[in-house]
Amino acid sequence: MSRAEPALLWAPQAWLGGRWLDSVVLQAAANGHWLHISPHTPCPANATRLPGPVLPGVVNAHSHAFQRAFVGLAERRDGERDDFWSWRDRMYGVAARITPEQLQAVATHLYAELLAGGYTQVCEFHYLHHQPNGQPYAEPAAMANALVAAAHHVGLGLTLLPVLYERSGFDATGLRDDQQRFASRVPQVLAMQRAARGPLVNSGLAVHSLRAARARSIQRLVGSAAAGPLHIHVSEQTAEVDDCMANTGLRPIEWLAQHAGLDARWQLIHATHATPQEIDVVAASGAGVVLCPGTEANLGDGLCDLPRWLAAGVPLSVGSDSQVTRDWPQELRWLDYGQRLALRRRNVAAAPATQPSTAARLFDAVQRGGAGAAGFPHWGLQAGARADLLVVNMADAALLGLPTSHVLDALVFASPALPFTAVMVAGRWVHPVARMPAATAFKATMRDLWPGSA
Ligand SMILES: [Zn+2]
Repeated sequence: MSRAEPALLWAPQAWLGGRWLDSVVLQAAANGHWLHISPHTPCPANATRLPGPVLPGVVNAHSHAFQRAFVGLAERRDGERDDFWSWRDRMYGVAARITPEQLQAVATHLYAELLAGGYTQVCEFHYLHHQPNGQPYAEPAAMANALVAAAHHVGLGLTLLPVLYERSGFDATGLRDDQQRFASRVPQVLAMQRAARGPLVNSGLAVHSLRAARARSIQRLVGSAAAGPLHIHVSEQTAEVDDCMANTGLRPIEWLAQHAGLDARWQLIHATHATPQEIDVVAASGAGVVLCPGTEANLGDGLCDLPRWLAAGVPLSVGSDSQVTRDWPQELRWLDYGQRLALRRRNVAAAPATQPSTAARLFDAVQRGGAGAAGFPHWGLQAGARADLLVVNMADAALLGLPTSHVLDALVFASPALPFTAVMVAGRWVHPVARMPAATAFKATMRDLWPGSA
């Protein structure tokens, strides 16, 4: 990827410090980071005038790119009951056969969609390590390299999280036949983390779940973890919580706190069924929580206690996870809608005394939480952070005529079809509107994976 041209931009409004400020000059350095950002400044003669209000980019904190090949194909029920576990069996149908070339085509298409949806960084929770029979590829990182190549192709930032995956359940000694390509040990996971590199690539580590890794392995990983976030699926399903209690005597978050050094490095994916006591434990630890409301709704996972997470001040972020949703406005909308439906109230996430806008409170929360989930000390429209931004598409039918003061609210709750006209990552424009560079390869891959589909 070429070095970015130093960018000098002017926006009529920009989201700075949790509010809209007018007439903003934004200057990026050649290293792709913001040099300075100045509100209330006239447009310099040599600046590029942006056509709409500007928002910082958003981190997609939890993604399994290969599951994009499955979207729309699991929405039928042919038995008495469909739930997470029957969905997982069908998801394994794709996981068991996707090749590195197919993964690259699927991920490239997905990542272009994520840019269009306002994400400028994706955290890939990557566990498709080997060939379907469990044999390593000749290039052991072939599948991870497919993700790196896809992100590079479209210009999206990537946090690669190689996943430790050792067993099929708490009382299992190994993996099922259809899980062999997930197999990984601590030294392999650490080697994969060290090998992750690219212009917009950083890395962390992940444990698939408490059911999928031995206690001693998790402790070794924690003890040897280099800098970087540490992600784990936790408490997504009540059956998993029950299994954890039956096998350890502790709920999952209690176990992490007592045995795995729960601290600010940890990112708990879902944490849907956390109790009030566990929420307090997370708050005291500094760990973050990654909510995936689109996927959690699709899979019937249940609803988290959003008001309590917010009140506890736990860093929150959002993820597209199974990819049924691929833009952050939709995730924030679902986050509050779930609560509205359950509590029969409106604007549950708003804080009347400090931030009456639901969208603004959630957006600022995921700015802070997303930075931690992706391992960035600085994020957003501030000097030193990577020069990412989104230009709001005020010409979208859903946003016509709105006062700027309510643009963020409308982005989330008026459901615009094309929320952003332009997206910048690291000082480079990366999202020419509605361009899907891998659409042809994606269609061909879908036909290969699903013979008989049109
Ligand atoms: Zn997941």
